[in-house]
Amino acid sequence: MAEQLLQINGLKVSAEDKEILHGIDLTVNRGETHVLMGPNGAGKSTLGYALMGNPNYMATQGSIRFDGKDITEEAADKRAKEGIFLSFQNPLEVPGISLGSFIRSALEQRRGEKLRLWDFRREMKKAMDVLQMEESYGDRDLNVGFSGGEKKKAEILQLLMLRPTLAILDETDSGLDVDAVRTVSRGVEEYQKNEKGSLLIITHSTKILEALKVDYTHVMVDGRIVATGDGSLVEEINAKGFEAYCREAIHG
Ligand code: ADP
Ligand code: MG
Repeated sequence: MAEQLLQINGLKVSAEDKEILHGIDLTVNRGETHVLMGPNGAGKSTLGYALMGNPNYMATQGSIRFDGKDITEEAADKRAKEGIFLSFQNPLEVPGISLGSFIRSALEQRRGEKLRLWDFRREMKKAMDVLQMEESYGDRDLNVGFSGGEKKKAEILQLLMLRPTLAILDETDSGLDVDAVRTVSRGVEEYQKNEKGSLLIITHSTKILEALKVDYTHVMVDGRIVATGDGSLVEEINAKGFEAYCREAIHG
């Protein structure tokens, strides 16, 4: 088992022939939590999609290694199976597939074996309790008619059930009321503690970070990581804003 779980080296990513990421270097070790901040349009979501293997985002240069293996050219489903999870900024609605059966089949894919319904239900109930979700949500079509907060909870439910090795959370806390942020944060905390999983948290707010251990903070501006620090950098960014970092990115 490699200590370095994720190694991104000189990664350039394009979408529709436009280069969005201009050379990203980032290493995430096992069990570490990294926070990625930056102004709108900086390329944060693009990095998440590129890590997940979204075919619309092409790595034109550099490499992504996961668990010691080069996955730069690997398809999204294989990456998911190997333990990379991306919680979407805008979760998709999937009519005709219930939240429960969606998670169950993803879990069976990941574990490579069928799950007994009762074992699955018991596990799911436990995770739903953490998130204060009614069990009946499991029978509802995935995200269809879910409120913004419920969609985000459904994402964290997947996180708790799938127990990925690396979880990328793309603004999972945005647009939530204070109670929902606290619930989502509790779910992430549970993942941090129980799974000793690694996290890359993309966020604009510090609310979700309050109860979490943060090892590193990175600032992304215009497709580049322009500053890296420890957890306290989050406070500094909040105080200074991104503008100072943007100036450095242009002139430095
Ligand atoms: P962030 O998540 O930091 O707000 P994004 O990664 O969503 O930023 O977007 C970074 C830049 O890339 C933006 O200028 C955006 O318009 C552009 N972009 C993102 N996805 C695509 C795409 N599929 N096709 C073309 N341009 C894109
Ligand atoms: Mg984004």
